[in-house]
Amino acid sequence: MKKKYIYFFGNNKADGNARMKDLLGGKGANLAEMANLGFPVPPGFTITTEACDEYNRQNKKFPTGLQSEIDKNLTRLEREMGAKLGDPNNPLLVSVRSGAAASMPGMMDTVLNLGLNPDSIQGLINKTNNERFPRDAYRRFINMFGNVVMGMKHHDFEEIIARHKKKAKVENDTDLNAEQLKNICKDFIAIYKKRTGSDFPLDPKEQLRKAIIAVFDSWNNPRAVKYRKIYDISGLLGTAVNIQAMVFGNTGNNSATGVCFTRNPSNGENKFYGEFLLNAQGEDVVAGIRTPEPISDLAKELPIAYKKLVNIKNKLEKHYKDLQDIEFTIQEGKLFMLQTRNGKRTTQAAVKIAVDMVKEKLIDKKTAINRIEPNQLDQLLHPTFNPKAKRNVIASGLPASPGAASGKVTFHADEAEKLAAKNEKIILVRIETSPEDIGGMHVAQGILTTKGGMTSHAAVVARGMGTCCVAGCGGIQVDYEKEEFTVGEKTIKKGDYISLDGTRGEVILGQVPTVEPTLCGDFGKLMKWTDEFRRLKVRTNADTPEDAQRARDFGAEGIGLCRTEHMFFGEDRIDYVRQMILTAGNVTKLKISVNEAKAELNKAPKKKLSSLNNKKNNIQSKLKESQRLYKGALNKLLPMQRSDFTKIFKVMNGFPVTIRLLDPPLHEFLPNEKHLQIELAKKMGMNPKEVKDRVDSLHETNPMLGLRGCRLGITYPDIYEMQVKAIIQAACAVKKQNIKVFPEIMVPLVGTDEEMKVLKNDIKIIAEKVLTEKGAKINYKIGTMIEIPRAALTADRIAKYAEFFSFGTNDLTQMTFGYSRDDVGSFVPQYTERGLLEKDPFQVLDQDGVGQLVTTGIKKGRQTKPDLKIGICGEHGGEPSSIQFCNRNGMDYVSCSPFRVPIARLSSAQSAIKEKQ
Ligand code: ADP
Ligand code: MG
Ligand code: MG
Repeated sequence: MKKKYIYFFGNNKADGNARMKDLLGGKGANLAEMANLGFPVPPGFTITTEACDEYNRQNKKFPTGLQSEIDKNLTRLEREMGAKLGDPNNPLLVSVRSGAAASMPGMMDTVLNLGLNPDSIQGLINKTNNERFPRDAYRRFINMFGNVVMGMKHHDFEEIIARHKKKAKVENDTDLNAEQLKNICKDFIAIYKKRTGSDFPLDPKEQLRKAIIAVFDSWNNPRAVKYRKIYDISGLLGTAVNIQAMVFGNTGNNSATGVCFTRNPSNGENKFYGEFLLNAQGEDVVAGIRTPEPISDLAKELPIAYKKLVNIKNKLEKHYKDLQDIEFTIQEGKLFMLQTRNGKRTTQAAVKIAVDMVKEKLIDKKTAINRIEPNQLDQLLHPTFNPKAKRNVIASGLPASPGAASGKVTFHADEAEKLAAKNEKIILVRIETSPEDIGGMHVAQGILTTKGGMTSHAAVVARGMGTCCVAGCGGIQVDYEKEEFTVGEKTIKKGDYISLDGTRGEVILGQVPTVEPTLCGDFGKLMKWTDEFRRLKVRTNADTPEDAQRARDFGAEGIGLCRTEHMFFGEDRIDYVRQMILTAGNVTKLKISVNEAKAELNKAPKKKLSSLNNKKNNIQSKLKESQRLYKGALNKLLPMQRSDFTKIFKVMNGFPVTIRLLDPPLHEFLPNEKHLQIELAKKMGMNPKEVKDRVDSLHETNPMLGLRGCRLGITYPDIYEMQVKAIIQAACAVKKQNIKVFPEIMVPLVGTDEEMKVLKNDIKIIAEKVLTEKGAKINYKIGTMIEIPRAALTADRIAKYAEFFSFGTNDLTQMTFGYSRDDVGSFVPQYTERGLLEKDPFQVLDQDGVGQLVTTGIKKGRQTKPDLKIGICGEHGGEPSSIQFCNRNGMDYVSCSPFRVPIARLSSAQSAIKEKQ
């Protein structure tokens, strides 16, 4: 069968409909739909995207049959309109409008008022008794045709208009009279000839053919191609072309043109929203030639048309069940609909509109949930810069933690704390941050680092705190000595103001005013609805009672990761932590020495006995002293940890709390600088050299792969013992206060089942001992993180000794790719830009590679224990596509930073809805 290239839309009836967007483009499909609904749409016809595709594939030739279909449909249109293209007595004018399946605003072209020439102008003047408007239409036509079809610059035409306005001493285009417009047209025709070397085409059929070709060609103009690339639009055939009878908003003051939304697209309010201009045409409203008036004023100016418009916009919204963005024109008091589409909106508006539409029974809850893009919720959770404010962007980095912050530049964490105590607003600028900086990070408005990726220390901590952070901003050079940073020619000194946009990753000079987030009731309501659909539980990564509370407020159902080491940096405890670390190794070492000394003593000849005995006693007393210090430190830390856990358990009343035993390499806690080491030695009654030796001995070439995680627990069992005691004692204490407590003790960095076997056994003995002492019963679990590839591969064996798994996908990604997560800033951005990596794997779970380890781990784990509880606690736990992956693969929960909890709730609901369909 012959292909149909054209679909007609007439009064009350069209060949196409709204479901045919791929073939007719969004504009054509919706024009057809509106015609079918009986709305006043100027008749016309749509050339399909298939025709555009074939035109492009046949080297810019009309496909066979297209021209004759155009002729036939034009005749039909002429009959319907009772006017003829080019007829000097009763001319028909048309617009030629582009429109693809995906909306690409402003990327392709449209020509209005086609069919005008000196004869038809005269015809129009005679017919309408209005000399001005046909001349106004003609100058617009020459301008648009010159620009769209012949590639002329608007500037050429604007100059001529400006000259004429000056001569006529008028300010607005609308003040130009017919005579002046006639002269403008003359100059337009002249410049057209000068620039294009050809006469302006006077034959309307030729005008039409050229305009259609120009619209076809606009599909491949550079900006349209770029737009499709940026927005990942592919697989479309091309643009459709809509040829539509013109209606005129520029015939005088009882005509108008406008753009409107059925609701407010900025805040979602259910109030008609839009703008119009009297005596205007086409893009005048958007182009800002005159300031348009608010739509409500149209009620006074043209009340009958306004009432009709309100009626139709109500029906359109009911019909499409979504916010509509509408273009209309009023000619001599009569309303015409020129376009409708689903309107773009802010997150705030999206949430309010979705909730309102459920209330109005327009859509169901599932649809409402699916209308919100999870990542967009970020916009609702952090203060943002006033969008109207000016920005002087001096550098860009990774958008590590969203939000907006302004403050004085400070380079040292301790100084940041001092200034914050004086109520100063601070931006902490570091090459990179370390756990020591936590205090300064906590008080800072924003954090800027020049190194590190999206899961670098700075980024993770900042997200956890909900503090705005720009990371890996390589264009900036920091000089700690001079306390300044340079970017290009600029030098920013300590105390200067900068602003950070963590959502875009921008560094801005000076202060930018912000607006506070408003968590309106609709947001909460939508979140409650997500709970009706999702299967995955959503927990949070939180180390402090404050973070835990915030996460609870956002709906977290437990803690999936509580990092004990973050508590170690508190001012009241860091010294004891250091004492514990420095003496832990000594104890081990001295125990060996004592044994050696004893052995030596046993074999020694008589005459050496006394000196060797002295030596042994000497070492033994040293050991005793070390043990005293070691135990002393642990005994100090125990009640502190217990009180931390107590507070967190209280906040999480009724919900599980997963506490990870000590994980990072110990040297992170120790001072490297000499004067700090001396200070520490003094505090501990050690000599400085001892401290230095101990720090040096803890130095590792690859700390990330060194003595950390459960390897610490095996090497220094007393530390884990202290932590387990603190956890169980805290649980017993809160249980007495009628708080429901479910501690889950998590062993990090397990790689072999033997490690887990030993540690599980140790932990169990300690826990049971505490419970016996207290005569209490606590429902606790012992489990492990799966974050080393080997653990995933041998999960069946590890599961024998674990009651739960939590996938630590930060480390798992690091070790699977072999990318240091603290150094990815130097190459991953390049990789993603060049397409070597689709996404940064630390942000979006690499489902192809790392994902295999996750699915293997789940499968093998459940082979051993079918009801093994499994979750994820890496940064991916708050990323929508990764959450979908977790849902599909049967995890029980995801855990993410407090501010991502709503995002995770929404994503898991969307994923569950999708699974069901
Ligand atoms: P865009 O896709 O860039 O919005 P359109 O094809 O919608 O381009 O055209 C822009 C404007 O031109 C419309 O909003 C409308 O004001 C005007 N316009 C288009 N076709 C007609 C017509 N048949 N009659 C009157 N005005 C029209
Ligand atoms: Mg439009
Ligand atoms: Mg880890």
